[in-house]
Amino acid sequence: MTRAEIIDGKLFAERLRAEIGRQVVRLREEHLVTPGLAVILVGEDPASQVYVRNKAHQARGASMASFEYRLPHNVPQENLLELIARLNADPAVHGILVQLPLPPQVDTDRVINAIRPDKDIDGFHPVNAGALATGGDALVPCTPLGCLMLLKHRLGELAGLRAVVLGRSNIVGKPMASLLLREHCTVTIAHSKTRDLADECRRADILVAAVGRPRMVPGDWIKPGATVIDVGINRIETPDGKGRLVGDVDFDSAVQVAGSITPVPGGVGPMTIACLLLNTLEAACRQLDLPVPS
Ligand code: NDP
Repeated sequence: MTRAEIIDGKLFAERLRAEIGRQVVRLREEHLVTPGLAVILVGEDPASQVYVRNKAHQARGASMASFEYRLPHNVPQENLLELIARLNADPAVHGILVQLPLPPQVDTDRVINAIRPDKDIDGFHPVNAGALATGGDALVPCTPLGCLMLLKHRLGELAGLRAVVLGRSNIVGKPMASLLLREHCTVTIAHSKTRDLADECRRADILVAAVGRPRMVPGDWIKPGATVIDVGINRIETPDGKGRLVGDVDFDSAVQVAGSITPVPGGVGPMTIACLLLNTLEAACRQLDLPVPS
């Protein structure tokens, strides 16, 4: 049996970021505009701190302006909403991201809803979620957008393929299903109440796993030759105590069956930040009524 081709998300993301950097420079030269990304972090969660640092670093690497706001874990909700209102009105800021999760005194929905939809580069605002679901112009959540780019790069035309999305969260599963539907796939969304998950998965030409359960999908759930996108990022214990990251798919058995597969790490993860920069560029162009680079 042949091993699956490994889909190199890290390399794809590097090239995408380089292209975004070129577009940013062109925008500055031709229109005197520098796309600006504002990232808000509430609290001291170590994983969130790493994400925020990476986002700011990569925004600067793509020649964008980056603004970071760190607020204490006990910040009153009103202060956070005031900051968002200020950034909404700031012409130097084209994209606003609030790092989730937020502490319990803050109502996450209220915060998401407070971001101007055309600056909502995470694509979580109901206006953007609605536009995606109804086929309008939307800022699309970064992780599913990155998954779709990898799929199109690998498979070209997706029309008619049978896709199964495992997971139905607002940030990954649902927008992923909408994007695949927009590409004319036949889409099934599976979740914790789905009966016979294995059977559903075995029908998939495209399987996107976004459940948050380490190595839940074994190789014998995968149709031979299928394209497998593993969104999961799960830290597991290792005997040396250092721990390591694994996906929602059992890579070692899946790689024997699938036609192609994303690794964890190095698959979907790097695409998420690259797509955040892409959304910031797109948001800047739309706000300034300039053509959106294709
Ligand atoms: P959520 O916890 O919000 O959603 C998980 C989904 O999986 C739910 O719809 C849930 O079903 C379903 N699910 C959970 N357990 C099972 C099960 N045993 N069988 C079938 N379905 C199940 O997670 P997210 O969507 O936020 O994230 C999913 C994974 O993706 C996580 O590992 C996360 O770390 C990772 N992630 C990676 C990103 C990246 O950049 N690579 C970005 C975002 C997330 P139900 O709705 O019925 O409860």
